[in-house]
Amino acid sequence: LFITMEGIEGSGKSTQLRKLAARLEGCGIPVDVSKEPGGTPLCRELRQLLLEPHGSGEAWCPKAELLLFYADRAQHLTQFIQPALEKGHLVLLDRFDDSTRAYQGAQGISDSMVDRIGEVVLGRLKPNLTLLLDMDPAVSLARVEARNAAASGFRETRFDSEQLEFHRRVRSRFLAIAQKEPQRVVVIPAQDAPEVVEEAIWKSLAPLLRT
Ligand code: C5P
Repeated sequence: LFITMEGIEGSGKSTQLRKLAARLEGCGIPVDVSKEPGGTPLCRELRQLLLEPHGSGEAWCPKAELLLFYADRAQHLTQFIQPALEKGHLVLLDRFDDSTRAYQGAQGISDSMVDRIGEVVLGRLKPNLTLLLDMDPAVSLARVEARNAAASGFRETRFDSEQLEFHRRVRSRFLAIAQKEPQRVVVIPAQDAPEVVEEAIWKSLAPLLRT
């Protein structure tokens, strides 16, 4: 089984992923957990290239960024995802292909370009289930800010109104994917208490685990 967790920053993906992995392991199911970008040692180098500020101050153009995210995915697929699935393990990922459609799409990359490169990299591979943790970016970004402030001791304003607008576009792209593929993508309201979100996730997995 191949399960992915998607959502905007601050939606609680990583916390819920940890809880879900522990719960599945508690049921005796072998689970291999990973994330994109950065799921293998080389992929972590790509993650740094993609996400850390560059000394040069130069930013990736959207197409270069798209190809780097797919380079990360191709490597991750070969080194981690396929071997784990072949062993019969459940693979649980923090972000996968829908993040590309949502984030790079919100940067202006068309769905048909993502489709073409996605076909080369992934072939027909699709997750059996995608859990989309959905919430208002105004709330989720405030969570991230509070978390950063707690970690650094001062309040930084990483998210301005332009970024809020960007994350609104990302959210609506995620929701559009869910609408297009309701069999695969389950929308989980993520603004509720963590225990409530955890139960909603567990409930949506039940039909898959019974088979
Ligand atoms: O969820 P995580 O913190 O690992 O994501 C790292 C960042 O990478 C996110 O802030 C997101 O903006 C960005 N990202 C992206 N395109 C993707 C995947 C992640 O822009 N396909």
